[in-house]
Amino acid sequence: MRKKLRLGIMGGTFDPIHYGHLVTAEEALVQFNLDKVVFMPTGVPVRKTHRSVSSAEHRYLMTVIATASNPDFEVSRLEIDRPGPTYTVDTIHALRDLYGTEAELYFITGADAVWDILTWKDSDAIADACAFIAATRPGYDLGRFAEERQRGIRIETMEVPALAISSSDIRARFGERRPVRYLLPESVSAYVEKYALYSPDGAL
Ligand code: ATP
Ligand code: MG
Repeated sequence: MRKKLRLGIMGGTFDPIHYGHLVTAEEALVQFNLDKVVFMPTGVPVRKTHRSVSSAEHRYLMTVIATASNPDFEVSRLEIDRPGPTYTVDTIHALRDLYGTEAELYFITGADAVWDILTWKDSDAIADACAFIAATRPGYDLGRFAEERQRGIRIETMEVPALAISSSDIRARFGERRPVRYLLPESVSAYVEKYALYSPDGAL
């Protein structure tokens, strides 16, 4: 019998993608023995409406540039090519069509994002269809998911060292001309400069 495909899905705005995302994906790949990690830039984010988000094409290309050297990382256009707001439940259906019903889907997120997802539309369907890998800071209380686990939601946790990095901080740094080196790949930061994505007078 063919081995079931174990697929990690790393969804995000990726505005811009940074080493926090990349370290987390690589750690999940190895710790959970995944066959690959699919990065999934979101289409029109339903939640981040308070600021202007860079175009889907810019976010997609930054994600491609950042992951290009890793043979186990892929980038999917599923969400950015789908018109209208992004719902994870639609993405899961599309992934099942692509990879078959047998594939095991692991959603890789920051620990806080798990609670977000569980308040989304059709969260029960999401929880039935896939497991979560929640990245936490070293020393963070892993008992926090006890209630979710009791509800039958499969949540694995994993400690990653680069959790303090965030896209919003990086955007602010670009805007204020503070250093961004070592927070994200240089190729991505060159891309940001080339298209002046986070210029000082632009919205953060
Ligand atoms: P923003 O600051 O705009 O919220 P972000 O840095 O959180 O951006 P997102 O694109 O929103 O980046 O995050 C995508 C996913 O990556 C989410 O599941 C989020 O929890 C997770 N994530 C974000 N930053 C880190 C990090 N430093 N380490 C591990 N996971 C992260
Ligand atoms: Mg975030």
